[in-house]
Amino acid sequence: MQFAHQTLAQRVRFATGAATIGVAEEVALLAGERVLLLAAESEAELAMRIAERLPGVRLHDEVAMHVPVPVAERARAVAEEHRADVLVSVGGGSTTGLAKAVALTTGLPIVAVPTTYAGSEATPVWGLTEEGKKTTGTDLRVLPRVVVYDADLTLSLPIELSIASGINAMAHCIDSMWAPASDPIDRALAGEGIRTLATGLVTIKQDPQDREGREQTLYGAYLSAVAFASAGSGLHHKICHVLGGRYDLPHAQTHAVVLPHVLAFNAPNSHEAEDRIADALDTGFSIDGLIDLCDELEAPRALRDLGMTREQIAPAVEEVLAGLPEGNPTEVTHDNLTTLLTDAWEGRDPR
Ligand code: NAD
Repeated sequence: MQFAHQTLAQRVRFATGAATIGVAEEVALLAGERVLLLAAESEAELAMRIAERLPGVRLHDEVAMHVPVPVAERARAVAEEHRADVLVSVGGGSTTGLAKAVALTTGLPIVAVPTTYAGSEATPVWGLTEEGKKTTGTDLRVLPRVVVYDADLTLSLPIELSIASGINAMAHCIDSMWAPASDPIDRALAGEGIRTLATGLVTIKQDPQDREGREQTLYGAYLSAVAFASAGSGLHHKICHVLGGRYDLPHAQTHAVVLPHVLAFNAPNSHEAEDRIADALDTGFSIDGLIDLCDELEAPRALRDLGMTREQIAPAVEEVLAGLPEGNPTEVTHDNLTTLLTDAWEGRDPR
């Protein structure tokens, strides 16, 4: 074996039904005295409940998807004015992303309390959008110092968004199988992530209020993010990044539509990925397992249903081709990528 794997320094706490106590204890461990609480308006009430026992709390609720630069700058100004010493974020990937934008320039520690399965809380990747162009980067300053997971906080996430967000997490696992820096540790975590996410998602599809199903899905989302943080972005994420950035498509749903197409494209040329994913999904062929799961979950199927037009396929193909990740198992050409995106746009079965 020849590989180097870096485990990132982060404290992770699972505290179902106990986020308020968990966050208070973690902020105290960081010696925090003035907390800037970041939460979108719709999660503000929930966040205030979690912040009940925190010292010096100031709430800032201006959150927007993909962190527009002016939104980041206003949050940084509030952090400075409040003389915050800890950031607590309560929300999905957009809220965690805002906390990361503040940490990037201030170095403040983040205690992240995720309420979706996006997984941003376990990565050192930040993203900012300016004039429609999304820039991302990696910086250890933005890696939340602590993550507090409380499955109860995801009970209010609508089932369609829960499913799409859970498949977004599964996409982290599947792309981790062949992303440029993928190593055996990432692939082991990703396999367990797929297994856990599949079980959790089927359970919450049957009963969105099932706490154990929510816990499983959250745990799988964490595993997926750890694998992804180490392995990096593969073909699937490259495609979704281009689609999301260019056409402002909804993040989680775009991942849910594209994932089976990338798996069908790559799995035949990656035996280890095929074996691991099929094993995790308890099926003969990985693609059959994923499509059966997506059918059972009634996951979104077509990019055209998310607001993309047929004319937008060709420019997206060009942009993906211009920045292909290294080492993709299947050679990507103009023709096969156009077919992949057209199939995803139409919602065809990739088999
Ligand atoms: P999101 O944070 O935009 O949330 C989606 C919607 O769900 C919002 O309207 C939000 O208010 C609502 N919501 C969140 N939690 C809820 C709850 N518990 N109950 C009810 N409603 C709730 O979406 P997301 O998919 O979590 O995150 C997407 C963003 O995260 C994108 O910008 C993406 O690029 C970023 N992301 C970054 C990384 C990274 O490593 N940097 C990883 C994954 C995602």
